Amino acid sequence: MKTFCACNRLISTLTINSHQEKCSCYLNHKKLLNQFDFLKNLIEVEEYSIDEILKRSNELLNIKTISRNWFEKWLLKNDIKRRTIKESNSTKRRHQKVINTALKNYGVTNVSKSNIIKQRKEDTCLKLYGVKNPYQSEEKKDKIKQTMLNRYGSESFNGSKFYKPHSGIISNPHNLVSNWLLCNNISHQNEVGGKFFGWNDKLDRNYSPRVDILLNDHQIVIEIFGDYWHANPKFYKMNDIIKLYHGNELAKNIWDHDRNRIDHIKSFKFNVIILWEHDINNFSFSNTVLESIK
Ligand SMILES: [Zn+2]
Repeated sequence: MKTFCACNRLISTLTINSHQEKCSCYLNHKKLLNQFDFLKNLIEVEEYSIDEILKRSNELLNIKTISRNWFEKWLLKNDIKRRTIKESNSTKRRHQKVINTALKNYGVTNVSKSNIIKQRKEDTCLKLYGVKNPYQSEEKKDKIKQTMLNRYGSESFNGSKFYKPHSGIISNPHNLVSNWLLCNNISHQNEVGGKFFGWNDKLDRNYSPRVDILLNDHQIVIEIFGDYWHANPKFYKMNDIIKLYHGNELAKNIWDHDRNRIDHIKSFKFNVIILWEHDINNFSFSNTVLESIK
């Protein structure tokens, strides 16, 4: 009898063991299987390119070299979906769109401290919210609520679209917090991947959570938690079943997962602030953020 080895060669069952002891493809295959979820996440969620993974394979996967041809076939066989060229172009296009919007609104592609830019930001905030620094008073908060009502027909956003974006598109509550930070001259980056890469004991594998908002100057990470997707304890009990995009999950398991995620980020000496969708919608998040960066 013959069987296929992970190197795609047909080997007799009598000699397969001795072959696999020396077969680098087989050894790589075992290593990849051991960290399958991590790899799947890198490619499908964190959007690492195959080139980057191959270049950093030792650091990321503890594999010295991987043949590109073999790796691409392996991904296909194991149903890990890498982006097609068409899809990565559309991601690039989306990124360009974000940059263009920033250019249009602020005259820059990222936040800077120069006075001209500060002035432009103030102008933008003035245009958006009718005030330069919209979070100074309760009265102004009410005004923003009114603006929201006028602009979006609702004081709060519908949570259904709100989940950790896979597409490069930032959710509305996330955008709201990001705009607020911008208006308050708090420099930050959205959707930062790769910064918290490291071994996670609980998952028993390497883990690299992509964080929603990074305030690097303050060693702070802000995570935007959708009430449904993260099972806000205000609304859900521990044994409630949440239908996630990949299947059902108990609320308590979601909390466990999130707790581990937060602990992982904290182990890098970063403070983690969780902002719940519900609180963002009620505009009761500004003090939480301001107090933590004092
Ligand atoms: Zn082999």
